[in-house]
Amino acid sequence: MAAYQLAQQALAGEFAARWAEVLAAVEAREIAGSLTELEAEYAAAIRESAAASYGLSAAFYRLVRALETGRVIGGPGYRPNSSLGSLWADFNRASGKRTGSGPREELPVDTRNPFPTEDLAREARRAEETFRHEVAVRVEKHERERAGRGSAALDDAELVAWEKEFLESVKTGSTGAGGMLVQDGGRDMIHTALQDDPGAIGYFRVTDAGPCYFCALMAGRGAVYKSKRTAAFGAHPHCHCQAVPIFSRRYQLPAENGTFSRMWSDFGGGSLADWRTYYGKTTKT
Ligand SMILES: [Zn+2]
Repeated sequence: MAAYQLAQQALAGEFAARWAEVLAAVEAREIAGSLTELEAEYAAAIRESAAASYGLSAAFYRLVRALETGRVIGGPGYRPNSSLGSLWADFNRASGKRTGSGPREELPVDTRNPFPTEDLAREARRAEETFRHEVAVRVEKHERERAGRGSAALDDAELVAWEKEFLESVKTGSTGAGGMLVQDGGRDMIHTALQDDPGAIGYFRVTDAGPCYFCALMAGRGAVYKSKRTAAFGAHPHCHCQAVPIFSRRYQLPAENGTFSRMWSDFGGGSLADWRTYYGKTTKT
């Protein structure tokens, strides 16, 4: 599951690299005139990596399920005569790393398909909203501020620094929010599949190397057993947490989850704001 988390994080990284290249090609003063093109590039970069995220999640879900139940489930990416060997091969291919292998013995099949189809319209809508929020609105505000500054010389060092800082903040905001949409391709898929798969009993959260106080708290809670209304996963920009589905009570939590859980009991309870302060202090030392 570390391999899965890292591979999802790498997809967000691929998106970030592609988007950084697009942004590097425009000057701060050109952005306002290039919003339409930028939005198209933004949406295309998200789509490409989100599709990979979705495929990776399907391969991961199918593999974990087969490892725990000894059965293969249908749906996107399913191939007849699957074995643990072929499921590992599918996962290795999707994650770009050789993490494991298994026997070639054919597994029994559950023909059910619990996987949602990709909701491309919803994703496009979210990409559009995110772009407006993180780029277009900020560019408009920046243009107004620039106009308010009057006619300072173009090579004024302070002005150059101001433009650069603006570009950086747009880049950070749009990259974090876009990376979230990319990984949501896989996260939403696993979250929905769990609900529609009678074999699944819940999930737990695997975090990235330096999770925020919120994600550490969620991970420290351990497994989330599914109910009629399993709460939303609660990802946020710059978050690389993933859901790992579980199919039996024999699952093993990552060591970090235990660390967060101990931290929480040492904290002794309190408000979320208090926990945030406590977590910040504890992880800094
Ligand atoms: Zn997180």
